[in-house]
This record gives sequence, C-alpha cells and structure tokens, in this order.
Amino acid sequence: MTDAAETFSDDDENQVLDAIRVWLDKEVRPEVKHFDHDDEYPHEIVQQMKEMGLFGLMYAPEDGGLGMSASAYARVITLITETWMSLAGVINTHMMLGVLIGRFGTDAQKAHFLPKLASAELHGVLCLTEPDAGTDLQGIKTVAKKDGDQYVLNGSKMWITNGMYGSLYAVLTKTDPSATPAHKGMTLFLAERGPGFNVDGKLKKLGYRALESVALSFSDFRIDADRILGGEEGHGFHHAVGGLELGRINVAARGVGIARAAMNDAVRYSQERTTFGKPICEHQSIQIKLADMATRVEASRLLVEQAAGKYDRGERCDMEAGMAKLFASESALSNATEAMRVHGGYGYSEEFDIERYYRDAPLMCIGEGTNEIQRVLIARQLVKRNPV
Ligand SMILES: Cc1cc2nc3c(=O)[nH]c(=O)nc-3n(C[C@H](O)[C@H](O)[C@H](O)COP(=O)(O)OP(=O)(O)OC[C@H]3O[C@@H](n4cnc5c(N)ncnc54)[C@H](O)[C@@H]3O)c2cc1C
Repeated sequence: MTDAAETFSDDDENQVLDAIRVWLDKEVRPEVKHFDHDDEYPHEIVQQMKEMGLFGLMYAPEDGGLGMSASAYARVITLITETWMSLAGVINTHMMLGVLIGRFGTDAQKAHFLPKLASAELHGVLCLTEPDAGTDLQGIKTVAKKDGDQYVLNGSKMWITNGMYGSLYAVLTKTDPSATPAHKGMTLFLAERGPGFNVDGKLKKLGYRALESVALSFSDFRIDADRILGGEEGHGFHHAVGGLELGRINVAARGVGIARAAMNDAVRYSQERTTFGKPICEHQSIQIKLADMATRVEASRLLVEQAAGKYDRGERCDMEAGMAKLFASESALSNATEAMRVHGGYGYSEEFDIERYYRDAPLMCIGEGTNEIQRVLIARQLVKRNPV
C-alpha cells in the first residue's frame, strides 16, 4: 500500500495509539459484555472506527489513508484485542483486501477501489473458504463461467467475516475447473452485491461474537470481466495466498492481545484474592502460572515484531509470520486457560472477561491457516532454507 517507514513516524504512531486507548476505555470497554453476550453487531462502535480513520490505517496517504506500517498496525491490533478481539476482525480482511488490490490490481482497480476502501465508503471482505474446502483451497467448487463481457458465478462460501455488513467482496472462484494443477484455473473477483449474490445467514459460534460470520451463495450472479483482480484469469490462488502473510501477522497480534489481557487480569486478581491468610500471588503454584504467562506474552510479541519488521522491509517473511501466528495463538489459548484457573470459580463466570478470552482464543489457532498447517509450512521452509 505504501512505503510506510517514510510516511508514518513513531510520534504519529504514539498519537494514534493514545487516541485508540482513550476511545477503547471510554466507548468500547463498557459495552463489550453486552454486545458479546447478546451476539449483537456494534454498529455505533464500527461507525466510530470509520470516523477515527481506523479503516484507512495501512492505506497510502495518497489514497486517503494513514500509511501505517505492518509493525505499527500489529501494535494497534494487539491494543484493540486486549479490550475486544471482535473489533480487530472488523478491519483485518479490509486491510488484506487493500494489500491485494495494491499489489495485484490493475491501475483502474487501484484508482477506483483504494480511496473508497481507505475512507470506509467500502468495507473489504475475503471470501475463500467453502463448506467443503478451507485448508485445501484448490478444492473449492465455486465456478465463474465466461459469458461475453461478463462471468456468471455459482457456488457457496462459508465462514465469511464481515459478510453481512461488508460491501466489497474478493471472491475466489474456478474459471477453469479442469485445470491441472488446479490453482492455474482459479480467479479472484472483486464483487459488490447484486441479483444472485445471497447472504444466507449469520453463523452461531463459540466466540468472536457480535462480528458476523456468514454463509454466502451465488446463483447465476453476473459480474463484469473487469472485476477480475489484475484483469487476467488464472492468478486467483496466487493472489489469495498473497495476503496471508499480513493476515498471519494480524492473527498473531491478536494472540498477543488475548494472552496479555488474560495475564493482566490474572496478575490483578491474584493480588486481590486471598486464601489461607495471604494473596494468592504469594502461592508458588500461582507464581509459576503468572511467570509462564508473562514469558509467553513477551515471546509472542517479539515474534510478531520480527515478522512485521521483515514484512515492512519487503523481505520474505512467510516462515516468520507462520511462527508468530503459531506461537502467539497457542499462547493466547494457554494464557486464557491459566487465567481461568487463577480466577478459580469466578473465571467461569460471565461477570469476568476471562470466559470471553477462553472462547475467543481458539479461533486464532484456526484462522489464516490452521496451526497444523503452519507447522507443515514452517518445516518445509526450514528445509528449503537449509539445503544440504
Ligand atoms: C469465525 C471464523 C471466521 C472465519 N473468517 C473467514 C473469512 O473471513 N474468509 C474466509 O475465506 N474464511 C474464513 N474462515 C475459515 C477459516 O479460514 C477455515 O476454517 C480454516 O482455513 C480451516 O479450514 P476448514 O474449516 O475447512 O478445516 P479443514 O481444512 O477441513 O481442516 C480440518 C482439520 O484438518 C487439518 N488439516 C487439513 N489439511 C491438513 C494437512 N494437509 N495436513 C495436516 N492437517 C491438515 C486442519 O488443520 C484441521 O485440524 C473463518 C473461520 C472461522 C471459524
């Protein structure tokens, strides 16, 4: 999107982080339980995010954005997640779509879409997963058939974040279902809703509540050929995985946020709660938990910084982003569980935030490539980078 280091200084970043901190404390924190427990979309909070410019964080200043680096963006995401992870999801696919259009879009697509995305006139959505294909993206079944200057889409998508209130959808399809290898027949379209584009309903889920995850279907949905990302068929798989490095850094940054929030709550509670005449933070078994939690937070944070730093310098960072995503998401899960134990029975209560961290954390182990696949990819890279 931009050479961020040249346009966005440390002072700028601190100002943005301070403004977000104030907003989170004043407008978001008091509302989280209500929206999360009722699974209700926080329209007013999302509107505030638009007005604060959060939809334009990584977009280039010439497109109306702030030109923030991936490193600074990761810190923003961690901060937001410490208060409520679902809000990070509102802008993640939106930022990834900007990266995809900036990297692979035609000049006309960049000029048309990037300013509208940066200003939040459009809200970006990524539609890759299908009911029968998630990890194995080359197994998708949505077909786009050419018909004159248009394509006709048929098929369905699953688990699409921002699918109901978003407005610009990157839809992965097969334009040549018989291609071998399959990825050569895949094409990504930039779609807006119209006849035959159906939002089939909000899926009920364990955590990551309030933010909508939906099933979509296309029944003879027509789209102009100039909506193919990059203008040419056959590059969709390459384009779709092109946004994953940033996606993984973002998921890892959320992992740090949950891991840190759980740790902070546990540290506070362990000083307030007394058993056997002393605060529980003085019991060695609790101290071991706190120490392990703090160590996981710092290790995760450093892995995210390393991956994001490489991303910002334009260096290859697939392995580093994968490691950060793997470790930070597992840390979030461990810290949420351990914080629940530190809280005893109260950790199980809806009165405290711990139960939400415990429900939100597992998603980080699934999204942007499951942790099983991360391990496979990390090992492959390790071997490739160290040939005998
Ligand atoms: C709340 C939520 C929001 C989401 N948002 C989006 C979104 O906005 N856009 C979008 O496109 N998708 C989204 N997803 C989908 C998500 O990316 C997929 O769920 C994920 O990629 C896993 O795919 P799957 O669910 O089909 O699992 P599967 O691919 O069926 O995997 C099942 C299990 O098998 C393992 N496995 C599969 N293949 C291998 C292998 N080769 N080696 C080892 N293990 C393997 C997996 O790790 C997993 O444990 C979202 C999912 C959720 C739950």
